[in-house]
Amino acid sequence: MKLLTFRFGDRTYAGLVYHVNHAVVLEKLFFKQFKRPFQFHDVGELITEGGVKRLKELDLAPVKGDPTLTRPLRDVEIVAPILRPPKIVCVGLNYRDHAEEQAAPLPERPLLFAKAANIVIGPDAKVRIPPEAPAMVDYEVELAVVIGREGFRIPREEALEYVFGYTILNDVTARDIQKSEKQWFRGKSFATFAPLGPTVVTADEIDPSNLRIEMRVNGETRQSSRTSNLIFDVPALIAYISKGFALEAGDVIATGTPSGVGVFRKPPMFLKPGDRMEAEIEGLGILANAVE
Ligand code: MG
Repeated sequence: MKLLTFRFGDRTYAGLVYHVNHAVVLEKLFFKQFKRPFQFHDVGELITEGGVKRLKELDLAPVKGDPTLTRPLRDVEIVAPILRPPKIVCVGLNYRDHAEEQAAPLPERPLLFAKAANIVIGPDAKVRIPPEAPAMVDYEVELAVVIGREGFRIPREEALEYVFGYTILNDVTARDIQKSEKQWFRGKSFATFAPLGPTVVTADEIDPSNLRIEMRVNGETRQSSRTSNLIFDVPALIAYISKGFALEAGDVIATGTPSGVGVFRKPPMFLKPGDRMEAEIEGLGILANAVE
């Protein structure tokens, strides 16, 4: 299933992509099938309110004959699937090719950092170059894991059972701030620096171990790799992260970026107003964001 969050009228809704160009309004279909009211303002709420179990039992047959259960995607604004994740846990230096391009030794354990949770934007929303750090803003395409249920000290062998689905995160970074401060939090957390989406594809449809991953800027391919180049794979990351603190439903883990980021190009190339980024991962679609 491909799930998305869209805005229509004065609020947002969790939806299910249906016949490519429609969204099933999930709270309406749930009401019809489970005979009690639901409100899902985004996919995150669907996950945290236990809609996950019901999603598996969902009968799509009534959708065909009832146009009130769907909305044409052309009539809605698609926003980030999870508007405000409880946490965005990021992993640095996690692709072999990205470590090689900066001549860094392979890390012995995952390097974790966070992005602020209130800077998430959706597909087609604009990334703003901040006046406080305009010179070295860079892109990073990343496979993002969406956690489906709470877990603490999750064993590696069980880790994938905690995954709800997968999406794309562009870990936009102000390199000058990142480099000049010991903590990466500020350089990674300017407003709009976390484009997420376009949809969440449920875990049953995705094998995260060997997906093509790519970033294009103004149509030119800048990053191109496969998730098989991850140093620490998705189960290893979930096990490692959850040793420190509990992962919760709706948390997003950004698994790291491959080589080709602007800062290590010769000469370096940073984002400027008018640029258009397209982050693409096999099976997860394209997350496109312009820069202003
Ligand atoms: Mg990153």
